[in-house]
Amino acid sequence: MKKLVEEVCQFREERDWEQYHSPKNLVMALMVECAELAEHFQWLTQEESRNLPAEKKEAVREEIGDVLVYLVNLSERLGIDLLEAAWEKIGKNRRKYPADKTRGKAKKYNEYE
Ligand SMILES: [Mg+2]
Repeated sequence: MKKLVEEVCQFREERDWEQYHSPKNLVMALMVECAELAEHFQWLTQEESRNLPAEKKEAVREEIGDVLVYLVNLSERLGIDLLEAAWEKIGKNRRKYPADKTRGKAKKYNEYE
């Protein structure tokens, strides 16, 4: 991850793009990339979304890369350790959604008894 953060920073600096990479702009760019990713799944059935043709899967792979790069860029600009944030969130979700109460159920945490 450290190497990826360094590469993203170097790419940005070599192009003098720091001036455009405010957190607001990076969030917007991230959302655009998420939409590009979602577009590949729009109108597919559940089954089709599980069995993407190779060409479509490659396009999805590229968009996933775009999403991660913007997420790395955003978190770096905000001084947030991306992996630490993800690990913390997984821990919170484990407490919020205890497996014995939530197994096999797709409800929000406040809808469980
Ligand atoms: Mg893209």
